[in-house]
Amino acid sequence: MNDAMLAELADLYRDLHAHPELSFEEVRTAGIAGDRLRALGYTVTEGVGRTGVVGVLERGDGPTVLLRADMDALPVEEKTGLDYASTARSGDTPLMHACGHDMHVTALIGALGVLASQHDWAGKIVAVFQPAEEVGAGARAMVEDGLFDRWGTPDVVLGQHVAPIPAGVLGVRSGVSFAAADALRITLYGRGGHGSRPETTVDPVIMAAAVIQRLQTIVSREIAGSDVAVLTVGAIHAGDAANIIPDSAELRLSIRTFDEAVREKVLAAVERIVRAEAAAAGADREPAFETLHSFPAVRNDEAAIGRLSAAFGEHLPELLVVDPGAVTGSEDVGILALEAGAPCAYWILGGADPAPFAGKSSAEDIAAVTATLPSNHSPLFAPIIDPTIRIGVGALTTAARAWLVPGEGSAPASPTP
Ligand SMILES: [Zn+2]
Ligand SMILES: [Zn+2]
Repeated sequence: MNDAMLAELADLYRDLHAHPELSFEEVRTAGIAGDRLRALGYTVTEGVGRTGVVGVLERGDGPTVLLRADMDALPVEEKTGLDYASTARSGDTPLMHACGHDMHVTALIGALGVLASQHDWAGKIVAVFQPAEEVGAGARAMVEDGLFDRWGTPDVVLGQHVAPIPAGVLGVRSGVSFAAADALRITLYGRGGHGSRPETTVDPVIMAAAVIQRLQTIVSREIAGSDVAVLTVGAIHAGDAANIIPDSAELRLSIRTFDEAVREKVLAAVERIVRAEAAAAGADREPAFETLHSFPAVRNDEAAIGRLSAAFGEHLPELLVVDPGAVTGSEDVGILALEAGAPCAYWILGGADPAPFAGKSSAEDIAAVTATLPSNHSPLFAPIIDPTIRIGVGALTTAARAWLVPGEGSAPASPTP
């Protein structure tokens, strides 16, 4: 990719950054992606899973490779002070690309341009510009809109997420890489009344208190010490006055797990405890459960990661490939892979200015610098444009070619440590 193309992609990135859109409102972003892909020769379908875009380029017989970028931004007021900082709002809500999805869109458009210009590959590229990752709903919406029925089941799902590790570093991990996240709203129904006459009521405040205490025994008493789960009650709402016993109480829970069996066990235990506490309180109405969002864990396939690491090592030897460990953050790209029954290879793209990391060679020193940088979702999150775009394009292109170029993945070099 030449300097003119990179400069053009940097302009695209700054434009996307200045025009963030909330989940399922990515109309402008989707329009830009659709126009760019059509100009590159891709067959484009818009409005997939509401605001998603699918672009297809097919050349002869070969594997189907799904390349995914998410498009949505966050309700965050940008404080970076950059000259391309967002001042956009949705109603009263300030908006910002605080998770770097603008970088994902830019890098995927760049990679699709590179791949379209190359003629040594065979197969099918299915480019997925996905809405609503932040609310855990966009991947599912695209699957339910027939993503795999209409464009085929992919042989691999590939994608990347920018993060505040130095530009020039790629985080590649086999196995579970991002936690599963489930958010629930639970409503406990009692029977309200005067605060002076509790004997005529079923008090949902007491019910909620008992539920919260008991929920904390799930991780400590039901999950093995060798397994990992986090259960947080992040919100509790009941009543408005000191002398009124309310009719209901609402709890909101966040649950993080790395293993599907552990996840199912925690979710089942939550429901069992909530129902049992309601019964113990003598509630005559069953509690209500609502899933606010649900992300499965992202499990990277061992063979796919081996192939990817070999390709990165061979074609991008100037980059450092490290195992970043499993992170408790979540990503709905796992839904695409799970629903397709396809291996997933999803990596972390370093996007931080490498300057503060100069001379830091130990993992501890690098982690110490990273800890001082704004994280994803911070109003100060600001990936460095160069070289992040160039590396993001190179990583996606290299990854796709590891499947699409005949012979490329069959004899991998030894994986980069
Ligand atoms: Zn995010
Ligand atoms: Zn994100």
